[in-house]
Amino acid sequence: MSTPLIRMKALEDVLSRTPRFSEAPSNKISEYFGANVFNEDAMRMFLTEDAWYAVRQAVEHGTRIERKLADQVASGMKEWASTKGATHYTHWFQPLTGLSAEKHDAFFEPIGGGRSIEKFDGSMLVQQEPDASSFPSGGIRNTFEARGYTAWDPSSPAFVIGRTLCIPTIFISYTGEALDYKMPLLRAIRAVDEAATAVCQYFDKDVTKVISTLGWEQEYFLIDKALYFARPDILMTGRALFGHIPAKGQQLEDHYFGSIPDRARAFMREFETEALMLGIPVKTRHNEVAPNQFECAPVFEEMNLAVDHNVLLMDIMEKVAHRHDFRVLLHEKPYAGVNGSGKHNNWSLATNTGRNLLKPAKTPKENLQFLTFFVNTIAAIHRNAGVLRASIASAGNDHRLGANEAPPAIISAFIGEYLSELLDGLEKNIKGAMTPDRKTELKLDIGRIPPVMLDNTDRNRTSPFAFTGNKFEFRAVGSSANCAGPMTVLNTIVAAQLRTFKKQVDALIDKGTKKDEAILRVIRDLIASSKAIRFEGNGYGDEWVKEAEKRGLANVKDTPRALDAWTAKEAVDLFAEMGVLSPVETEARHEIELHSYTLKIQIESRVVGDLAQNHIVPVAVTYQNRLIENVRGLREVLGAEKAKKATATQLRLIEEISEHIGAVIGMVNDMIEARKKANALDDARDKAIAYCDTVKPYLDRIRYHADKLELLVDDELWPLPKMREVLFTR
Ligand code: ADP
Ligand code: MG
Repeated sequence: MSTPLIRMKALEDVLSRTPRFSEAPSNKISEYFGANVFNEDAMRMFLTEDAWYAVRQAVEHGTRIERKLADQVASGMKEWASTKGATHYTHWFQPLTGLSAEKHDAFFEPIGGGRSIEKFDGSMLVQQEPDASSFPSGGIRNTFEARGYTAWDPSSPAFVIGRTLCIPTIFISYTGEALDYKMPLLRAIRAVDEAATAVCQYFDKDVTKVISTLGWEQEYFLIDKALYFARPDILMTGRALFGHIPAKGQQLEDHYFGSIPDRARAFMREFETEALMLGIPVKTRHNEVAPNQFECAPVFEEMNLAVDHNVLLMDIMEKVAHRHDFRVLLHEKPYAGVNGSGKHNNWSLATNTGRNLLKPAKTPKENLQFLTFFVNTIAAIHRNAGVLRASIASAGNDHRLGANEAPPAIISAFIGEYLSELLDGLEKNIKGAMTPDRKTELKLDIGRIPPVMLDNTDRNRTSPFAFTGNKFEFRAVGSSANCAGPMTVLNTIVAAQLRTFKKQVDALIDKGTKKDEAILRVIRDLIASSKAIRFEGNGYGDEWVKEAEKRGLANVKDTPRALDAWTAKEAVDLFAEMGVLSPVETEARHEIELHSYTLKIQIESRVVGDLAQNHIVPVAVTYQNRLIENVRGLREVLGAEKAKKATATQLRLIEEISEHIGAVIGMVNDMIEARKKANALDDARDKAIAYCDTVKPYLDRIRYHADKLELLVDDELWPLPKMREVLFTR
């Protein structure tokens, strides 16, 4: 007898759980917000005036901190961390493998004679050598025989988690190549700062710094621990590789903004408290469209900090989920048939004078500045759609992009009716030199951008890159991604575009054109040349796919091919020129992404093979035997002639089951063969493409037959929790 014990037990476990609410330290968030962060207040209290000033200078101007002062900072930091109960410290960094990495060391140091001291000095703060050999470096290490070290990033404050002081760091090789996400991000932030500040000088001489801002929105699924462990596919790959879509999915959309189930709410409250204590300004929480899908969004912050906070939050969510008998699924598409998860990246640029450069203003002068940044961003997207697409490519996101729920794989920009008309008007009307009348008229036009349109821009949810009134929202980013990837690309291409813009405007001014007119002329040219990237219609429709093709926009549906953008000469040169990624770093990143894609598909394929062979087929055979027994019995009781009619249904069922079993076994074998062939390939790209084209298709095909078996086989025998149970048991 094969009673599906695991499944029954899992369901019982889930039903027996109760919510476990914990108390926040205070009813007033302001009383504990940032309590575990070595922030401004803590620094003032624990650092000498000189040390504090050195850190501020480093944050604001990127200046180096002298060794003596670094010692002081370290000592103050340790002092502060001890008041929070920290006994260890770690250099916290973001390797290219995914989340964060850390190596813990104790402050404690034996000094002989059975005695010890607590030690943490400047050298320990500034630089560390983790054992880098197991982090991916895409051949960099082989090429340069470079071991990695981590180096303190003072622009993101240190924090305490549990008993550990965490110091945000970059991770680089001895030859200076970036081995992580943060280093290129910092370079891209600097690139856009320089380029945008230079352009701002046309409008406001007081602007000395431009800050990139990022507000992310994190979507995720919760699954009960017991169900998670009863589903080896979800456990191993983060997504269900089997399971018939339940009769009720999300059609009713009754989950969206509905009341949050108690257990989930208890979980959210706790992780939000921890996040707030770490200075992550989480503010919004709500249900998402799919059952057991939720979203968390903070207020936007300076980009480097926002990225760190997102990585940290994903980490905290996982830790807190354990305490509530949940697991968090950050995968882009855990379940077929219901929506996947994304991570909208809201992006903008702000000046040190407090202006959001993507916010329409009241005066024509300020709006010319707005238009400058707005149009240059669109032009940057148009010119570099390939790398932007590559920046969001992953095995998980492939299930989401273009799947009628998430933005299509075609990069386009939505800007809303009002701004579309404005741009079209500008494009048509500025021909050659302008008459003074026309110039005034135009200024009035620009001056009239009404603030109400802020609310009207957010209607088109089908666009991958939408202007939402005072920022662009990059919606195609996957839920498990490190925002640094796409943000590094976005900042870099915008920086490059602004640089070109400045050169063109300056050239016109040198030839005697007035400044404003020169700016308008270049803007006009950009509006005309980047028109193809603007799309206001339904991004989910088939018409758009055809239309985009006519316009010459790429529609790359899979990761290995999307990543090709990193090998294009223009891209390699652009990232090198902007000082963000050297050609070696670009190549390394390309290789790492390909490799990670291959690994993901490889694991999924193995799990599908195993589960099909040793969970699904045996159960189907058992049930089939029961049917055969039944047919035999009927014949015995009724006699062959009479049993004919009575056994007809069973016989059909037996045949059907045989066919599906045969199909599953045949395909699993074929898939293994395809894997063998793919594994024999040396080139990373060839291998990824082989996995994509020859292995991956089996996943869905095997699933099709397995899911059919699920429908045919007696529910009592079925070993894996079914999708309706995974999605609706709580
Ligand atoms: P939704 O997309 O769910 O409708 P909103 O459009 O209200 O939500 O806001 C989304 C996010 O945009 C928030 O996380 C917010 O912090 C962020 N945001 C607002 N202004 C900016 C800005 N200037 N730069 C970056 N992000 C911003
Ligand atoms: Mg959004």
